[in-house]
Amino acid sequence: MTTLSPGGTIGILGGGQLARMLALEARRMGYRVAVLDPQPRGPAAQVADIEIVADFNDLRAASELAEKSDVITVDTDHIPAHVLEDLSGIRPVRPSARVVATIQDRLKQREFLEQLGAPQAPWAAVSDLESLNQAAKVAGFPSVMKTRRSGYDGKGQARIANPLDLLNSWDSLARQPAIIESFVDFQQEISVLLARDVAGNVRFHPIAENLHCDHILHTTRVPARIAPELAENARTLGAHIASALGHVGMMAIEFFVTRDGNLLVNEIAPRTHNSGHYTFGACVTSQFEQHLRAICELPLGDTTLMRPVVMLNLLGDLWAGGEPPWNSILEKPGVHLHLYGKQHPRPKRKMGHILILDDSADRAAALADTISGQLVSRPS
Ligand code: AMP
Repeated sequence: MTTLSPGGTIGILGGGQLARMLALEARRMGYRVAVLDPQPRGPAAQVADIEIVADFNDLRAASELAEKSDVITVDTDHIPAHVLEDLSGIRPVRPSARVVATIQDRLKQREFLEQLGAPQAPWAAVSDLESLNQAAKVAGFPSVMKTRRSGYDGKGQARIANPLDLLNSWDSLARQPAIIESFVDFQQEISVLLARDVAGNVRFHPIAENLHCDHILHTTRVPARIAPELAENARTLGAHIASALGHVGMMAIEFFVTRDGNLLVNEIAPRTHNSGHYTFGACVTSQFEQHLRAICELPLGDTTLMRPVVMLNLLGDLWAGGEPPWNSILEKPGVHLHLYGKQHPRPKRKMGHILILDDSADRAAALADTISGQLVSRPS
């Protein structure tokens, strides 16, 4: 493929919020958008030109998407890799089937990182009772069990406090193939957001400092409060990972910063990422535009942060007392609202986010806390 110019069609497997924001940016730039998702009229389909409703393993539907598109991308790591492999015979697929196959299986991802020499918490694979006990010895206590496949936002995870928890934890995950890794007593979580183009050029967005609650991203703060050398090491490692995978497009690499100031890779997402939402409003080029530029073989964009920013995720729990009070949120300075068009605000479901831009990241963070507190303490 050479450059796919505006006017061409971007095909997206998965129609959630990442696809929605990608589609919004694509349409702004003059591209057409086709989306395939099992749920009709989801966040991305609402703003797309073409909607195909089908399961992700429906090869005929996926081929139809490819026929109607000029390039294929994904908004989730859970698209079956064999489907991507098949589509690559019809259109360029970015990220490739090989990359997605490595990432969507936590064991393969950890093995890949190990081969690369990337630092990670001690871990081991679990497939039967014998390996369960062996893995517990490697990871120690406390530790975290994670299913090899289909986990996200803490789903498919169980904390193991002591040896007595071991079997219960695996039972709670229906004894699926899993890994166990040491629980990391980190001082910070950060993510490196980068884009890699077909020629291998890599460009970084500013590193994000992330706070999770119950395994789900709560806030992202940028600039991150980290030492310049640590930031450089994280970027170098991130670029190394993206290059070793031969990745094309956006990639997020989540790291723990340990109490003694070392980096451990937590996980890799070969796509746009929640911790990069801040770029869509606070950077010259958003992560969504950057992903499009990479997969369409356009020059990568300027990633400069225009203003310090805090992103606050809005979960479905906040709708328990009815629609959140948007007026009192939006009257505050520097606040921008993003909602994803989801009909049913279930607990823990990502419904939207707000960005708070301020010349002071501390002030933006304080306002995020105030807003979050107000939303949480509303009577239901
Ligand atoms: P994950 O889906 O693996 O990214 O996990 C979501 C969040 O759970 C992470 O961002 C951490 O806040 C927490 N978490 C996951 N694995 C570990 C670990 N090994 N040690 C400590 N916290 C963890």
